[in-house]
This record gives sequence, C-alpha cells and structure tokens, in this order.
Amino acid sequence: MNNRQLFLSHLAQTTDFPLLIEIEKAEGIYMYGPEGRKYIDLISGIGVSNVGHRHPKVIGAIQEQLDKYLHLMVYGEYVQSPQAQLAKALSDTLPEQLDNVYLVNSGSEAVEGALKLAKRYTGRREIISCVNAYHGSSHGSLSVGGNEIFKRAYRPLLPGITNIPFGELDFLDSITKDTAAVIMETVQGEAGIRVATQEYFSALRKRCDETGTLLILDEIQAGFGRTGKFWAFEHYGIAPDIIVCAKGMGGGMPIGAFVAPQEIMAVFKNNPLLGHISTFGGHPVSSAAALATIKVLKEENLVEAVEAKAEQIKGLLQHPKIKGIRNKGLMMAVEFESFEVLKPIIDRAIELGVITDWFLFCEDSMRIAPPLTITEEEISAACTLILQAIEENA
Ligand code: PMP
Repeated sequence: MNNRQLFLSHLAQTTDFPLLIEIEKAEGIYMYGPEGRKYIDLISGIGVSNVGHRHPKVIGAIQEQLDKYLHLMVYGEYVQSPQAQLAKALSDTLPEQLDNVYLVNSGSEAVEGALKLAKRYTGRREIISCVNAYHGSSHGSLSVGGNEIFKRAYRPLLPGITNIPFGELDFLDSITKDTAAVIMETVQGEAGIRVATQEYFSALRKRCDETGTLLILDEIQAGFGRTGKFWAFEHYGIAPDIIVCAKGMGGGMPIGAFVAPQEIMAVFKNNPLLGHISTFGGHPVSSAAALATIKVLKEENLVEAVEAKAEQIKGLLQHPKIKGIRNKGLMMAVEFESFEVLKPIIDRAIELGVITDWFLFCEDSMRIAPPLTITEEEISAACTLILQAIEENA
C-alpha cells in the first residue's frame, strides 16, 4: 500500500473529504510534494508556522537540545533550562503582571488549565464565553466553545457555561459576581475573523474588574505576531488576567501555555487539593523551539511588517466575486457568496499550488494566514494564482 492508502485505511479520519495532499518537505512558505509539486502554504498549517517552516534558528535550537536531553520528569519538577528561559522570554512579551507561565502541549490543554485556574482562584463555578467561539476539542474547551452543532453530540458538557454574542456591549451585564471567568478570543478565528471594538474591550475589562471576574483571552490563533502586534490585545490597550497561547508558539513544535500573575497561579500549589499536572507539558525540545521562535519574531522585525503585508494582499485580491475581506493583520477572511462558490476556487488554487482553507464556523470565506516571513514577491505570486483560480471558476 502507498502512503495515501495507508492514510485512508489506518489513520482516524475527521472528514469525508480529506485534502489528501502529500508533503515530503517544507521550508519557509513552501511545501513540496512528490514529483516536484510545490505549494505556497498560505495558512501556515493553520496559524502555526508564523516564522515559516523549518526556520534555521528554530531547527538549530531543536538540534542543540536534542544533543542534551529529551524528557526528564513531569512538568515542574526538574529545573530545565529551555523551560525556565522560555517562561522568562514569554513573560517579557506580556504586561508586567503576567509573569507566571504554565507550559502545556496544545491550545486545548492551555484552555483547560486556564479554566481550572479561574475556578480555583475565584471559588466560583460559572464561565461566560462567546457565540461561535472555538477554544479546542477536549471536553472542557469544547464546553466553552460557541457552536451548538459541534457540541450537541457530546452533551452533557461542563455545566455553568453561558455563551454571549462576541462584541455586543448589551450582553456584558451577563457577567456577575458569580462569574469565575470570561473566556474570549481577542480576534475570533474559526468564526471567520471577527473583531470587536475598542469600546467593547474597555467595557469588558471594566465589567470584569467590577465583578471580580477573571478575563481569559485566547490568543492561540491571534498571538505570536499574527495580527501585527505580538499579542492581539495590545491593539485594544487592555490586558487579560490570564492569557492562553499555543499554535505559532513552537515554530512548528507542539507547545502551549497559560500565563497569569504569580498571585493567581499560586493557588495550584496549595495542597492537598490537586493543582494541575502534565507529563510532557513544555517538552524541552518544544521549549527550545519556542524560545527561538520568540527571538526570530523580534530579530527579524516580523511583527512590525504584518500590517503592510496585509494591506498588499487586500490591494491585490480585488475581484467582482470577492465580497469583502475581514482581517486583523495577517489573520484574514476573504468573503465569497457561498461555500458552493468558494469550494471550487480553493480546490483549483491547490491545483495551481496555493493552499488556502475555509473556517470551521464560516464556510463562505477563504482563510488566509501566511507565514509572517512571506515576502512582497511571494504575496504577489500567491495572489496572482488565487485570482486565476477565481477567474477560471467565474
Ligand atoms: N483556541 C483557538 C482560538 C484556536 O484557534 C484553536 C485551534 N484551532 C484552539 C484553541 C485549540 O488548539 P489545539 O488544536 O492546539 O488544541
């Protein structure tokens, strides 16, 4: 059996229509398949390869760590240099009070940890999240998700969760003194790139402060420079009480974190109640890769360049079939009339060598989230191919 047959018969499938693209190597913004096929990865493995595939400094850091040790002991027991250095570097990107880092392996796990921390710290049981939010696929993170179709089959989920519409001021009074936390994506990703106003975030912060509710911002997709600031909340001049991150963090390696002030995180060490435990959280190789990723984002000024690149894409992707482009930096959704119009365009673009996608909860829009390292020429080439795919389906 060839790899494609093995994939179909032995790997658990999550859709009836897998893309079935075979990749043998990936570097920068490019992925390479058999027989010389070359693709531009315009979605960064869904918001992961912010510094491009196999960035030499990330690879170097991984190799250096491989020569030292792999796994030693469950998270938080041994002093491991990559974890300690990463925790410091990560807190340095955040407001001063967010100085305590819990390292995990993925976005869903970061959300799980943050929710437990909020309940434990406040002693409250209720959580508020948003309609059409996506926070992960594990039971807890799915419970705070905001799409009923995805949740229905798995009920009963966590109790005490209310979904409010994202960005609508009128619903902020649902946050009360019984609310342990509000969890929200700073920019909604899977909803199809939805942004809220400055006024909304200021009012949200104020309401959380008034009620003693913790504000958890999910920057798993929006963080690590994707929106043109290192963290998307920086656009709104507010700060969360807990931030969750993953995806782009490891430069292609699995790692995530939830970060909170020392005072909040300290509740996890109050015995005899079990705090939070992870065997592999902050794996040394992933931590070394994440540390290198932060350095690359800074040294190469990638975050500062995001806005100009987004504007270039918006300028180039003009076509009567495109109804509009929603974006926050390089987190972009190109809107078409319907999924039926969009699907053949995405398929044709892949044949032409450009990989885009749609969104879990928004099927009429094309996902564009290239590596932040993409150049002007590469943007131009990718957009020309997308326009060709649109034209051929017109
Ligand atoms: N939150 C957001 C905003 C996400 O986009 C994702 C992943 N798409 C997650 C959480 C879950 O992350 P993971 O798949 O690493 O568990």
